Amino acid sequence: MPTAIDVVNLTKTYGEFTAIEKLSFSVGEGRILGLVGPNGAGKTTTLRAIGGIHPPTEGSVSICGIDLRDRPVDAKKLLAFMPDEPRLFDYLTVEEHLRFVARIYQVTAWQERAAELLAELELDDKRKALPGELSRGMKQKLMIACGLIHSPRVLVFDEPLTGLDPLGIRRMKDTIRKRSADGAAIILSSHLLGLVEELCDRVVIIHKGRKAAEGSIDALTRTADAVEGSLEDAFISITSRVES
Ligand code: ATP
Repeated sequence: MPTAIDVVNLTKTYGEFTAIEKLSFSVGEGRILGLVGPNGAGKTTTLRAIGGIHPPTEGSVSICGIDLRDRPVDAKKLLAFMPDEPRLFDYLTVEEHLRFVARIYQVTAWQERAAELLAELELDDKRKALPGELSRGMKQKLMIACGLIHSPRVLVFDEPLTGLDPLGIRRMKDTIRKRSADGAAIILSSHLLGLVEELCDRVVIIHKGRKAAEGSIDALTRTADAVEGSLEDAFISITSRVES
């Protein structure tokens, strides 16, 4: 069985600038990997490469054994990339968004899936609303519903809790846990290290485009001599060590 997400020697340059350099990691089925790092470390660049939004300059990304460069459509059918900013169509209602995305992914019986997701994400009463009539948090939830409609095996979340209220945060955490329990491989990138600690099995810390550390939260806090034993402590210790 191929690994769900395999990133090998990923390098991304923008002109002369190297945003990501030889980054490798993998995520197995049912696992949640936290991708963390300071501002500008290269997290979004990495997530975009995994989501097939922009190709790596060097290295490869495989989704369930399918190389994104060789068979982009087949690989993308298996994944969902949820960016940190909701990107929606101004003139499609909530329901029309789900129908549109379901059609692209050739999801049969999409109404049933859509109804489940709208209930799970509490958007039931907004079926007929346009994005302009939704709050920031509701837009976020709609984007996530669109990402989940084709039941992807690989989920990539960039700051999934932005704009959600406390109940929405709790529900979103449940949504992420549920997909992982169903066997999806998940990458979660967030500056909210408490969230990463709560949900993730393993963490990759990147700094200035390179992997600074990787391991379970326990292992990272132990090796980083984190005084309080928290991921935040380990993060600060590891990233400042790389700095010096
Ligand atoms: P943050 O936590 O602030 O969101 P990040 O870790 O997601 O940061 P990226 O957005 O991946 O960081 O950016 C990594 C580096 O690549 C930064 O130095 C950024 O300025 C640069 N970069 C990102 N996109 C481009 C682009 N389109 N052109 C040139 N440089 C870019």
